[in-house]
Amino acid sequence: MTMVIDCVAIGEELMKEIVKETETLKTKGITPGIATLLVGDDFGARMYRGQVEKFCEEAGFNYINENPSADVSEEEVIKIVKKLNADPAVSGILPLRPFPGQISDSAVINSIDVNKDIDCFQPFNMGKLALGEATFPPATPAAVIEILERYAREVDKVDPKDFFEGAEIVVVGHSNSVGKPVAYLALNRNATVSVTHVFTSMKGNLAKHTKGADILIVAAGKADLIGPDLVKEGAIVIDVGINRVKELDEKGEPILNDKGKPKTKTVGDVSFDAVKDKTRAITKVPGGVGSVTNRMLLKNALKACKIAHGLL
Ligand code: NAP
Repeated sequence: MTMVIDCVAIGEELMKEIVKETETLKTKGITPGIATLLVGDDFGARMYRGQVEKFCEEAGFNYINENPSADVSEEEVIKIVKKLNADPAVSGILPLRPFPGQISDSAVINSIDVNKDIDCFQPFNMGKLALGEATFPPATPAAVIEILERYAREVDKVDPKDFFEGAEIVVVGHSNSVGKPVAYLALNRNATVSVTHVFTSMKGNLAKHTKGADILIVAAGKADLIGPDLVKEGAIVIDVGINRVKELDEKGEPILNDKGKPKTKTVGDVSFDAVKDKTRAITKVPGGVGSVTNRMLLKNALKACKIAHGLL
């Protein structure tokens, strides 16, 4: 019997824990805070900024919005980062990319105080992650691990340590933000981890790897990349992908909205309906990993705040 993991409920539970911890900190006169840095007005980055603001409000955090115009110089952006580094109301800094072409990602990221780098962009923090000593495990990969740990404890009734040790985990996607860090987090829990990517697919080897996975973590950003033929019977499938696709009718034609434009919907990388029954447990999109990601970011900001106040 397949279980669709209720990530929304996990996110809500985490939020309650975060609110409680924030209230305790406030009794000591301490309020955690997150600053976002959006340069210009990229649509996706703007949407993410709005979500962070909303979650900060819900958690009782300070929220600081830095939004210089798209033609700002790199020097000016670094000045803003340095101001945020020095601001005690800011526990964590979140650069929202893409940045305009004149601004180097690495120049901005490297100017963030390592103790405020709550999404683990800094090479120093990535290095600690690789060594199994992550201070701030990046939010999306940490959300994947949180979902699996809760599944282990609450459904399989096993210690997450035993759940991960020796588990055959396959990650699809090797980006610096999701694929690689989630592979490190699993490897640091003694899972047997394979990482696949576009070149694995190009050589026709993707199924060979994914069909061996007890736990399949997919983060490629390609709708319908994973069908039932790529999934082992009884696997746990975590779909990180977020894709906007056209809604089609039964003939495969786009369904139009009242303005005559194709309707769209959000899907993951896994063909959920076709794959679901083959799995032991699966996450869906929307209402999956994304429901936990922002809470993991808030947890990192709480940790940064405690570090800054000598409480950790
Ligand atoms: P990304 O930087 O574009 O990386 C995608 C990865 O998938 C790359 O490693 C790429 O390999 C690999 N890939 C692409 N096509 C493939 C194929 N046909 N077969 C195998 N591997 C393939 O994206 P990302 O930032 O890691 O994000 C991945 C997905 O997760 C996106 O849909 C994104 O929107 C979503 N996401 C979700 C959350 C959340 O909270 N739910 C958070 C972040 C991201 P190459 O590098 O070799 O091309």
